[in-house]
Amino acid sequence: MDFQWITESVGYFQGAVNIGYIKVSSKEGLLVDAGLDDQAMKKVLRHLGERELPLTHLFITHAHADHYGGAAYLQQKQVIHTFAPNLESAILENPILEPLYLFHGVYPLAHWRNKFLEGKPVRVDTIIMEEENLKVGEVSFKTIALPGHSYNQFGIIAEDIFFAADGYFGKESLDKHGIPFIVDATRTLASLEKIKSLPCKGAIPGHGSFEEDHVKTIDENIRVHKEIEQLVEENVRACKDGITLENLVALCCSEKAVVIKNAPSFMLFRTAISAYLTKLISEEKVDFAVKNNQLVVVSLSR
Ligand SMILES: [Zn+2]
Repeated sequence: MDFQWITESVGYFQGAVNIGYIKVSSKEGLLVDAGLDDQAMKKVLRHLGERELPLTHLFITHAHADHYGGAAYLQQKQVIHTFAPNLESAILENPILEPLYLFHGVYPLAHWRNKFLEGKPVRVDTIIMEEENLKVGEVSFKTIALPGHSYNQFGIIAEDIFFAADGYFGKESLDKHGIPFIVDATRTLASLEKIKSLPCKGAIPGHGSFEEDHVKTIDENIRVHKEIEQLVEENVRACKDGITLENLVALCCSEKAVVIKNAPSFMLFRTAISAYLTKLISEEKVDFAVKNNQLVVVSLSR
């Protein structure tokens, strides 16, 4: 995990998941997300400690374990004021909610409660209710609502550098996932359009590298989402009598060369495919039906 400065006071630790750092003053510093686990946070603390860089505040963009898993360790080690968006904060405080919703409400088995799906509980001191200025000492930072990848994800702008969280993925990460995780396709696309028009000098995604010309990468994200949406719709239309949700997930994943390796991973892809379906349902292109006690998706276009 390497640290690099983008401006004199804004930088990030680049790893499988990025952690942002803003030196706010000689006494105050803000982390943007906390990494996957204790290990990631130990590296961050060592780096900042060696350089005598202050750390007093933490902003968690959304309640996915790879972004908040290191927060509990940080809170246990030192005094830290933690900000998180509304609703995401409920999951941060009760992290069992993520495996619970992925496994349609059934009490999750122990091995589904791994560090990738459930971090340690995080105390949230200030809940971000809407786009507002987040105050650290005398300095204010603008937060930007980016729903779609998660329910109420927020990004933040510091010195014209935009921390986009998982509002978009770097090209490599986008290719690796095949079908990126989302909970709402309509909002995902709206958030991507919004990022394109933000006045900033460059952006850092949660997974990928800082780019001054990030709009190219955003356009690629939009293209991928539209392509998957079309694939979902075509696969439903091709089955005259409807297709079960399970078969639709399997078909879309195969066509995107995704190999699902285990049950939790299946649940993540099922959520993403369902998120395109709710967009198509609201546009009256497809609908859910129950046939022979099976949940099927039927096409409404002729
Ligand atoms: Zn995420």
